[in-house]
Amino acid sequence: MNILLVEDEPLLRHGLADLLEEGGHSVTAVGDGPTAVDRGGREPFDLVLLDVALPGIDGLDVCRQLRSRREELLILILTARGREEDKVRGLAAGADDYVTKPFGSRELLARLEALSRRVRREPTPEQIEADGCRLDLGRCVAMRSEATVPLTAREARILRLLYANRTRAITRAELLERVWGASGRLQTRTVDMTIANLRHKIERDSSVPRIVVTVKGVGYAWGGC
Ligand code: CA
Repeated sequence: MNILLVEDEPLLRHGLADLLEEGGHSVTAVGDGPTAVDRGGREPFDLVLLDVALPGIDGLDVCRQLRSRREELLILILTARGREEDKVRGLAAGADDYVTKPFGSRELLARLEALSRRVRREPTPEQIEADGCRLDLGRCVAMRSEATVPLTAREARILRLLYANRTRAITRAELLERVWGASGRLQTRTVDMTIANLRHKIERDSSVPRIVVTVKGVGYAWGGC
């Protein structure tokens, strides 16, 4: 795999890079959050091994930002022992799995292998055709018949998230966490209002939505295919 390693402790970073390379992976090692967001969002990595306590941008924020741009990326976070809340928050921020420090080298390599076998994701296309609407998520526009409607970056992120997870429903809480990057401060009503606006832009008839469908008692799901 092509791995982005994000760890600010130089000794641990070098040790991990050597270990991963010995395990047959190609490794790019960086030591701060902003560089991780920049390179992780642009370069074709398969997996990010991400420390939580990082200078610049916190690891959980890095996770959230990378996830909003690259749904197919595998993200494994490194959490410190005794910080249980990091695991929960990491998974909510879009991480696929976590490893608790300190860990054995064989354990880490085995977890990476297991993760790559368990999760195989296709990249989300920038252009999606759904129920007669052409969604260009790269340019943030929706086109139906002759009309072109601009989408906000947030709306494009919602569509990307729903499409990438189209085998399941996404809860309002997960949308809040992964699209707004906030939990608790905002109400789930914010999600419903944003979805209602989005439906007006993209649905043939927003009272009978077919692209962003409601899953009663759960949240929303992609219905566009
Ligand atoms: Ca650290």
